Amino acid sequence: MSDEQRELLIETSRKLILNGINRGTSGNASLRCHNGFFITPSGIEPNKMSINDICLIDWDGNLLEGQRPSSEWRMHRDVYMARPDIQAVIHTHSTFATTVSCLEEDVPPFHYMIAVTGNNTIPCAPYALFGTQELSDVAVSTLDKGYACLLAHHGMLVSGTSLDHALAVTTEAEALCEQYWRLRLTEKIITLNDEQMDAVHDKFKAYFKR
Ligand SMILES: [Zn+2]
Repeated sequence: MSDEQRELLIETSRKLILNGINRGTSGNASLRCHNGFFITPSGIEPNKMSINDICLIDWDGNLLEGQRPSSEWRMHRDVYMARPDIQAVIHTHSTFATTVSCLEEDVPPFHYMIAVTGNNTIPCAPYALFGTQELSDVAVSTLDKGYACLLAHHGMLVSGTSLDHALAVTTEAEALCEQYWRLRLTEKIITLNDEQMDAVHDKFKAYFKR
């Protein structure tokens, strides 16, 4: 089972490159397991990753397997500890999410698909230095009960009930950020109201139950 989880992480990291979300060694992904979580390593390109490079970290932050976990492992651990519903976490410096994160503002409900992030906005966490507990704290509180948030002047954090779910939310959130960036260049931004967004959330619930 654990080898299977390691393979899944490598496969997801490769998809993130193929989809144009990550470049080179940027970004990381993790998957919950029974005594902690598996996380991609620091400084190894997904095409060159093998299952022995995947790190295993327990809930106290001890490195049980692997050599050099991603420098953002704290953020991953703290999301799992705060959110029992979350099985997978993806962190990326994708171009459009990162661009919008530099505005230090939440992405408003300009399009109904924003509901896939679990909220009516993609909230933006305040800036904190990479790899720190401070960044993890602001990221977890901004993510709250949703599936995606921006990290100011840094990138995006996405969580999911599976790796496939996290990957789908990452891809959609990046597309929404690209659309929002274009919209932001215009004079007027019209957003959907709470009632309209409630109807989208209700329809999504019924849709995903089928
Ligand atoms: Zn980062």
